[in-house]
Amino acid sequence: MSDDARMYSYSAVLMGSPILLKLFEHNEPLASRVFSLIKQYEDLLTVNRAHSQVMDINQAAGQQPVSVSRPVYELIKCAKAASLVAGGAFNLAIGPLVKCWKIGFKGDRVPPAGDIAQRLTLTDPQNVVLNDEQTSVFLTLPGMEIDLGAIAKGYIADRVRDYLRQQGVTLGLINLGGNVQTLGSPEGGWSIGLKKPFAPGTALLGTIEVMGQSVVTSGVYERYFEQDGRRYHHILDPRTGYPLDNELDSVTIIARQSLDCDIWSTLIYGMGVEKGCAALRARSDIEAIFVTKQREIILSSANHYRFTLLDDDYRLIA
Ligand code: FAD
Ligand code: MG
Ligand code: MG
Repeated sequence: MSDDARMYSYSAVLMGSPILLKLFEHNEPLASRVFSLIKQYEDLLTVNRAHSQVMDINQAAGQQPVSVSRPVYELIKCAKAASLVAGGAFNLAIGPLVKCWKIGFKGDRVPPAGDIAQRLTLTDPQNVVLNDEQTSVFLTLPGMEIDLGAIAKGYIADRVRDYLRQQGVTLGLINLGGNVQTLGSPEGGWSIGLKKPFAPGTALLGTIEVMGQSVVTSGVYERYFEQDGRRYHHILDPRTGYPLDNELDSVTIIARQSLDCDIWSTLIYGMGVEKGCAALRARSDIEAIFVTKQREIILSSANHYRFTLLDDDYRLIA
C-alpha cells in the first residue's frame, strides 16, 4: 500500500488560507484540536480583525507601549531582528503599506504615489521599541503598524508540529496555505509539490522530497491583482513601497524550522539569486530553490532534500 493510501487528510480554512493536516491514523478529535490551536494563534496575531494582541500594539502606536504574552513578544522580537538584516526585504513594520495596497483583499488597487511616500515614513523597524522585562512593544509614531503575515504561518506551523509530537504522533504534515511543516519521515520521505508560477490548477514544476523538514514558498503568483495590464503582487519592497520587482517568480526555503523558512523566503526574495545564495553560504541549515522569470530553477544547495524537475519548459541549475 502506498503512503498516500494510509494517510488521512483533514482540512479547514483559517487565516484566510486553506489548511491541510495529514496523519497516518484516523483521528478526528486530534485534527480538531490542531485546528483550534491554529485558531488560538490566529486570534493573537491577526491584523485582519479589530482585536488581537498585535492589533492592541498597532492601536497604541504613538501613544504607549503595550505588554503582550511572551510568545507574541518573542515572535515580534525575531521579526524585528530579521527586519534589520542588511540587503533583505523583510520588514515587520510594513503594515501601513500592506493596508494601503490591500493586495489579496477587497478593494486592492494601485494607491496614489503620495500615499505610498507618506506611509513609507511609518515603516522604519527601528521605531519598533522592545522591552524584554515588560515584554512590551511600542510603535513610536502614530499610524505605524506591525504586520506578521510573512512570519506567523511559519511560527504556527512549528507549534503544530511540536503539539503533534507531544501527542505521540510520529508522522504528520501540516500545510498552512503553502507553508508546509512535516513531522517524521514516511518511507521515501515527504513529497511536496513546487507550484508552476501562474499555471492554472495544480500544475507542478517539480517535487521536493524532505524528511522532517519544512518547505515554504514566497511567490509573486500567490496573491496579486492586475491593473492596466500590470501585475501587482503581495510582497512589498520596503525601500520603495511597491511590490518587489526582480528576476524571481518564487523562492522556496527548506529548513528544520518553518519559522526560519518563512523569514528567509521573504528576506532573500528581495536579495535575488546571487546575493541570496551568498547569504545562505553561512547557513548550511537553510537551503533555497529560486524560480526565475527566465524559467530557471536554481538550487543554493541540496544537501537536505531532493528536487525532481517535472516541467520541460524549465532548466535546472544546481
Ligand atoms: P510571505 O511571502 O511569507 O509574506 C507576505 C505577506 O507578508 C504579505 O501578504 C504581507 O502581509 C506581508 N508583507 C508584505 N511585504 C512584506 C515585507 N517586505 N516584509 C514583511 N512582510 C511583508 N488572509 C486573508 O485573506 N484573510 C484573513 O483573514 C487573513 N488572516 C490572517 C491571519 C494571520 C494570523 C496570518 C498569519 C495571515 C492571515 N492572512 C489572511 C494571510 C495574510 O494576509 C498573508 O497573505 C499571508 O500571511 C501571506 O503569507 P505567505 O506565506 O503567502 O507570504
Ligand atoms: Mg509565509
Ligand atoms: Mg515569509
